[in-house]
Amino acid sequence: MIDDPLVKQLLTTVVETEDNLPIVEALNDGIETDEEIANKTGIKLNIVRKILYKLYDMGLASYKRSKDPETQWFTYSWKFEKDEVINRIIKDSENYLTMLNEELDREENNMFFVCPQGHARLDFDDASDYEFMCPACGDELEFQDNEEVIAQIKEDIEMVESNFKSFTEKNKS
Ligand SMILES: [Zn+2]
Repeated sequence: MIDDPLVKQLLTTVVETEDNLPIVEALNDGIETDEEIANKTGIKLNIVRKILYKLYDMGLASYKRSKDPETQWFTYSWKFEKDEVINRIIKDSENYLTMLNEELDREENNMFFVCPQGHARLDFDDASDYEFMCPACGDELEFQDNEEVIAQIKEDIEMVESNFKSFTEKNKS
């Protein structure tokens, strides 16, 4: 599951670096305590703990506390909240697609004008408010052909949709 590009992307953001992903893999494999995870992965115990609490903060892991009857010490058994990971990815992908489609719509339905010095990119209404002069330097704004911008957004949409499709197919419950 962690090999899925969307899962990997989300988890890498939470655990800060790919080097810490084995912690999540160990947790996903059912290893429950911070010490066992540290032993299994070779990652320092303080880092394992920090990452477990980060996952917990994000709702992606939970724990149960129990008292050892002999030593009276508390032990924490951790659990990976796979369903939360799935829900979050579905939500994030949907939000991202909505945003991309809005952006595409805006690009397709507007003309854009740019400052030759790179200060500004304005749509027709904004550019005409400034009488087609750059609000920063006063240079005349130039019409920008936004075909490439549109092509890039369409490509992004296709990529997100295809990742999302393969993700949902693998994680049908
Ligand atoms: Zn300018």
